[in-house]
Amino acid sequence: MIDTKTTFGHETAGAAHNARPLFFIADLHLSEAIPRTVAAFEHFIEVTANEADSVFILGDLFEFWIGDDILDAPATDARASFARRMTRLMHTLSERGIGLYVMHGNRDFLLGKRFMKDAGAMPLPDPFVITAFGRRIALAHGDGLCTADRAYQGFRAFARNRLAQRLFLALPLDTRLGIGQRMRTKSEGARMTGVKAKYDVTKKAVSELFINSRTHTLIHGHTHRPAMHREVEGVRWVLPDWELDIDTPRGGYLRLDADGVSPLPL
Ligand code: MN
Repeated sequence: MIDTKTTFGHETAGAAHNARPLFFIADLHLSEAIPRTVAAFEHFIEVTANEADSVFILGDLFEFWIGDDILDAPATDARASFARRMTRLMHTLSERGIGLYVMHGNRDFLLGKRFMKDAGAMPLPDPFVITAFGRRIALAHGDGLCTADRAYQGFRAFARNRLAQRLFLALPLDTRLGIGQRMRTKSEGARMTGVKAKYDVTKKAVSELFINSRTHTLIHGHTHRPAMHREVEGVRWVLPDWELDIDTPRGGYLRLDADGVSPLPL
């Protein structure tokens, strides 16, 4: 369900006509197990992003994130060195004067303050509204719009509860890793391969978001069904997921400039 009490944040960019574009990505599901996808992300941050004013990551950057304390784990832990490598990479954006905004997904909702600081990122609430190139644009991960999946919405409310998060984070790192992996294999296999309408956004949730945010453009990820949909209240762009470690690699990003939104390959 869309939280109608959310105070829509506001970010202004691109006021000047020659302003640099904004780039949007989501659902990279990064882990040390998919080196080609990781390499594509490295190229995107080190090369592609140089043209951008800011990069917006709209959730599920990581396959899972079990707590920021992974950043302090010993270098012998492959997960820890991977996490540190990714945060260091992202930090180079701010060193080059490029903004980085990160929204939580359903896999990495435990990305916390420490991660944001190390990555040089600003956290974005979900949903969030930016104003750029003269238009208001709503941003969301997308899982909150899949309101037909009641069981998942129940889990989402629990997982985003601060007390539940504190209790989970109090568990040892390895216990959390085990829980995280079990939850993934259980829920995601069916969710992402299935074409069931239940796992897509609902017209009602999308309509409510457009109306509550007073926008006519929405960008979200999560469903892994990249497209441009003309809805009653506005245009809904769905970001592609990234998967380059398979025979038919896929991925991409959205670019926003004075001419509007355009989908681009990696
Ligand atoms: Mn997702």
